[in-house]
Amino acid sequence: MIHANEDYLKLPGSYLFSTIAKKVAAFTEANPDKKIIRLGIGDVTQPLCPAVIEAIHKATDEMADGATFRGYAPDLGYEFLRTTIAEKVFRPLGTDIAADEIFVSDGAKSDSANIQEIFTHDTKIAVCDPVYPVYVDTNVMAGRTGTYDETTGLWSNVIYMPCTAANGYSPELPKEVPDLIYLCFPNNPTGATVTKAQLQDWVDYANKNHAVIVYDAAYEAYISEEGVPHSIFECEGARTCAIELRSFSKNAGFTGTRLGYTVIPKDLVDADGVSLHSLWARRHGTKFNGAPYIIQRAGEAVYSEEGQRQTKEQIAYYMKNAKVIYDGLKAAGYTVSGGVNAPYIWLQVPQGMTSWDFFDYLLEKANVVGTPGSGFGPSGEGYFRLTAFGTYENSVEAMERIKAL
Ligand SMILES: *Cc1c(COP(=O)(O)O)cnc(C)c1O
Repeated sequence: MIHANEDYLKLPGSYLFSTIAKKVAAFTEANPDKKIIRLGIGDVTQPLCPAVIEAIHKATDEMADGATFRGYAPDLGYEFLRTTIAEKVFRPLGTDIAADEIFVSDGAKSDSANIQEIFTHDTKIAVCDPVYPVYVDTNVMAGRTGTYDETTGLWSNVIYMPCTAANGYSPELPKEVPDLIYLCFPNNPTGATVTKAQLQDWVDYANKNHAVIVYDAAYEAYISEEGVPHSIFECEGARTCAIELRSFSKNAGFTGTRLGYTVIPKDLVDADGVSLHSLWARRHGTKFNGAPYIIQRAGEAVYSEEGQRQTKEQIAYYMKNAKVIYDGLKAAGYTVSGGVNAPYIWLQVPQGMTSWDFFDYLLEKANVVGTPGSGFGPSGEGYFRLTAFGTYENSVEAMERIKAL
């Protein structure tokens, strides 16, 4: 007799984006003449840059020719891409990540979801609150999170690290020591970053406690300030405690084309000396059949001179929107953070309102759609996320409407 995996049945419904869609649909139906501006978008909107498109065309032509056609890609990624990443991403940061420590994949979402598989069932996880929901949900599916409390929205066996205005959205080192720590900086949803010194504290803490940090650097390309680390491997000792997730989605607009990679140093071992690099190579080679050749060539083109210039322009476009939104909200009297090293702007909702109250207020009064902070975790209550992924014109208009409220 077949039975569904009961751990999957424990997942609370993912109400956030479907509730938003329903509310927006109802409003549009009742107010067909109103122009809605969506600043809740968590996806890029600029087209792929010319250097990337050119590489895609060239690789496609190769696939049409018997002499250059390629079948299965190597499970762990083509050498040309792994070498390019090592040389163009990690060497300039002064880190010594080798090409064979880079595992090419279809993106950081699946890697952030799957990485927990190489750790034992009783692995204790710690996450920031608010959080990118994938980290928690995949551990729920793996049966490690205990029981869910409907009222608090917390799992009994997860260590939550609140990130609020009080700590500058930077989590404190937990007193109860976790085994696996998920960190994401620049952060989605808060847009916050940590300094290199703060990240070094995490690396030291993990090494001292033989814990592993999964560092999600999906928004690394948005960092504009000095002193903000682009990679956890800039910290001393990270090679023995950290795994880094990277994505081409936000830095080069690959959300639809799909490409990412995970870095696992060969020095990273568990408490018994087992190589996590080898375990992940085994896992990835067994369960993943390689990212497409055409897309890996596209990824390589991101690091050409042209590709770098063009993708930097795209990021500058979004960051111009971020500044408009940040400055606009400030001018309207809101307490705002993020938006400087990330495409996310995080604001405190007015006193006496919940995140959802503010969602309704903004939709009805300004016809602007954002995302309630409480949807990312209990500590997100009282906060609201706007994103810079819209058009410049819409970002400006949205701020004019909000200032006029
Ligand atoms: C967008 C995003 C990613 C990237 O996911 P892909 O699967 O590479 O598109 C990873 N982590 C976070 C926190 C994100 O917001």
